Amino acid sequence: MILCIVEHDNGRLEDQSAEALTMARGMAGAAGVPLHAVIFGPGGDAVAAAIGEYGVSVLHLADSDALASYAPVAWARGVIAVVEAAPAEAVVASGTDRGNEVMATVGALAGLPMVANCIDVQPGDPYRLSRLRWAGSVVEDAELDSDGPRLFSVAPGSVVPAKADSAVTVETQPVPLSLSDADLAVRVLEHMVPEHDGASLVDSRVVVGGGRGVGSAEGFAVLDELAGLLGGAVGVSRAVTSLGWRPHRDQIGQTGVRIAPDLYIACGISGAIQHMVGCKSARRILAINSDADAPIMSKADYAVAGDLHVVLPALVDELRRITA
Ligand SMILES: Cc1cc2nc3c(=O)[nH]c(=O)nc-3n(C[C@H](O)[C@H](O)[C@H](O)COP(=O)(O)OP(=O)(O)OC[C@H]3O[C@@H](n4cnc5c(N)ncnc54)[C@H](O)[C@@H]3O)c2cc1C
Repeated sequence: MILCIVEHDNGRLEDQSAEALTMARGMAGAAGVPLHAVIFGPGGDAVAAAIGEYGVSVLHLADSDALASYAPVAWARGVIAVVEAAPAEAVVASGTDRGNEVMATVGALAGLPMVANCIDVQPGDPYRLSRLRWAGSVVEDAELDSDGPRLFSVAPGSVVPAKADSAVTVETQPVPLSLSDADLAVRVLEHMVPEHDGASLVDSRVVVGGGRGVGSAEGFAVLDELAGLLGGAVGVSRAVTSLGWRPHRDQIGQTGVRIAPDLYIACGISGAIQHMVGCKSARRILAINSDADAPIMSKADYAVAGDLHVVLPALVDELRRITA
């Protein structure tokens, strides 16, 4: 069988788990084996019907209260318990921080090979796969020669979630799991909802980005104003967070947030690869930069060569005029 680690939010299947299930179902079909899922924590049975629509025939449920909060080693022990009881060709998880952490822990504890950030996996002998490297700027084709369960995480956004042609009735089985204190030593103790005023960077249809070229923390006032007029959010480059002008939660890029707005207005940002991986899903990019040869100018759909402190106030004035 192929085993997929599934996560849910109060009974709602997480989008990235739907991506992982879609890839795992394709693998199970190609290998001619059934698709199973494992869910940790109380309430996992609430998604049984939802995962049946993705072709899961057996749900391995580890629903003890001890697993009410995320604990990577305990989850890894649970995955190992499942694949020892029901031999698996492969285990698939979403390529979230959590999915990758659990898979890496399974690999370390059980001595199994793990491949992260996969965009395509073809079962066979050997398994053939394509995965994202270098923050998504390179696709690597590779082979995985292994007899034991192979561990894969799915690059977020690389698979379009698709339900099976017909739903499957899901049989639920408990995971035989006894956990030690050490297995639960690392666990989530508290969930804190981040405070933010204004629109969310991840969900906004318009994002106004500011880089070192903004010049100062105070210089962001005009970007805030533009974002407010457009109902959008302000994001920044790492140079800006390193300078302490804005908090890290506003950073776009490889080590920040990935955005996918309809329009990204990048102001005073050079367009380093580590920044671009965070905004490459934007439908349109407008770059405003005083250097016409800055890398972002050739990557953008629209480019304005000019001083942002001249261009942005003019843009704000014009928007105010037409929306008055
Ligand atoms: C491992 C690693 C991870 C990283 N992760 C990230 C990440 O997640 N996100 C990220 O952004 N970076 C990241 N970086 C840093 C990245 O490589 C760049 O250094 C950074 O993105 C540069 O920020 P910037 O474009 O604001 O600054 P700069 O590269 O200094 O560019 C400033 C730009 O502003 C322009 N400018 C100056 N004045 C004006 C003006 N008045 N009007 C208009 N334009 C003006 C300049 O022409 C220039 O193009 C990472 C680097 C590493 C090594």
